Amino acid sequence: MASKTSPSGDGALWLIREDLRLHDNQPLLAACTQTSHVLPLYIMSPSTCSIGENRLRFLFEALRDLHTSLCVLGSRVHIAYGDQFETLRSVWRGLGVKRICLQRSCDPTLVRQEEELRKLASLDGVVVQTYQGLELYDQRLLIKLCDHEVPIAFNSFLRLVDRAGEPPEPLAPPRALPPPPDLTPLAQAQIYSGVPASFAAFRALLRGPTAVDNPHDSGRRHPGQADCAGPRNDSSAGGSARRLIGGESEGLKRLAHQLQNATWISKFSKPHTNPMVVPSEGIDGSTTLLSPYIAWGCLSPRFMHWKIREVLQKLPPSVTPTGPPQSLLSQLLWRDFFHLVGSSTPYFERMQDNPLCLQVPWRSSAEMLHKWATGATGVPVVDAAMRQLRCTGWLHHILRHVVACFLTRGALWCHWEDGRAVFEALLLDADWAINNGATALET
Ligand SMILES: Cc1cc2nc3c(=O)[nH]c(=O)nc-3n(C[C@H](O)[C@H](O)[C@H](O)COP(=O)(O)OP(=O)(O)OC[C@H]3O[C@@H](n4cnc5c(N)ncnc54)[C@H](O)[C@@H]3O)c2cc1C
Repeated sequence: MASKTSPSGDGALWLIREDLRLHDNQPLLAACTQTSHVLPLYIMSPSTCSIGENRLRFLFEALRDLHTSLCVLGSRVHIAYGDQFETLRSVWRGLGVKRICLQRSCDPTLVRQEEELRKLASLDGVVVQTYQGLELYDQRLLIKLCDHEVPIAFNSFLRLVDRAGEPPEPLAPPRALPPPPDLTPLAQAQIYSGVPASFAAFRALLRGPTAVDNPHDSGRRHPGQADCAGPRNDSSAGGSARRLIGGESEGLKRLAHQLQNATWISKFSKPHTNPMVVPSEGIDGSTTLLSPYIAWGCLSPRFMHWKIREVLQKLPPSVTPTGPPQSLLSQLLWRDFFHLVGSSTPYFERMQDNPLCLQVPWRSSAEMLHKWATGATGVPVVDAAMRQLRCTGWLHHILRHVVACFLTRGALWCHWEDGRAVFEALLLDADWAINNGATALET
């Protein structure tokens, strides 16, 4: 059994980013092989504070859930606050970490981080190992398969994945983890061995390294409503109204519940779904409501794909399930589609220089944008949708279309980039590629 106190010099680090789960997690499994210690580390940067209240709470719950699961396996989540690179450097120098394992992302900020990290780590002889697991398909393989001619229409994308065959089967979670190293050599680094017990303490952690000195403390200072602000310090979001609880356990539970209804799965047909069903009305929606779990990596899309496949395979021959692009399986393909197009299109997150984007002379008005974002336009369906979004962090697909269209070409003629920024702060499932792609599509 490896010692828990002395760094052996062969330690590994699982850098948790968009993969807050144990199942189907290759970086985690890779980190656990041939090593005496594994440090599961989530780094909170000052920019983490700028995400909306509901998103932050979802993240906190997901981290707590992961921590609880890791404790059962002999490990724990560690949270660092501060600059990503400085933190990692002090970890590998202080604890003898030789390998860093992480999931590849299509989000350009994370892609840049990965490249920087690789360079920095190599200077100290540390190896950065990256793995694919956030999408159904390995994006690099798809790009090779289409000879770098990435399809920009969903039908062509479907033909491409047809050629790729079924996505890989999900990986089982680890049965045990090597222990985390002793953090004593890192006295100066702000790393917390565990997850704060309360959301208040978690928020305090984000305000600065001195705010919380004991992660198990319930918090020295409880934030008031002003601390629970949305993207522009607007506290009208009402943090207490959240309904979707973050975490792998909850995501798997919701999926398992929905899989019991084989008829619903087989007949799933989007957009023919009901936008009036909101999370507060219970676990069943007219769609799965699993997007926040998938976006934070609490639920693996490959796991979900294969579970749905199992249900469909058991249907009697007389039942013909819906097919693409409406079926439930193809909703996950839409996600892969946006990730592929987003990561291979220059300036995908903006109109200027984006080759796929119509160049529109928007007349953005700060006042109209504010009214839209706070649900005060005077148009009932738009206001109700935006208030639901602020309240719960989730919105049905059709309502996302309604509000995005209203903001842009439909009525207000505001820039889609402004709408994207509001969605990014408020949506529990905010996803760089889908959010940019779907919002820009409204134009
Ligand atoms: C303006 C606009 C912005 C959007 N921003 C996001 C975003 O930031 N993050 C996000 O995950 N989705 C986004 N979507 C896509 C879609 O609305 C949501 O994924 C879906 O409504 C989530 O609900 P669900 O989990 O019940 O989906 P279900 O219909 O149950 O689908 C299952 C899963 O498939 C994926 N999915 C479903 N529809 C889409 C789609 N059209 N494109 C890509 N993936 C899809 C999601 O991961 C979803 O959880 C956006 C759509 C619009 C119109």
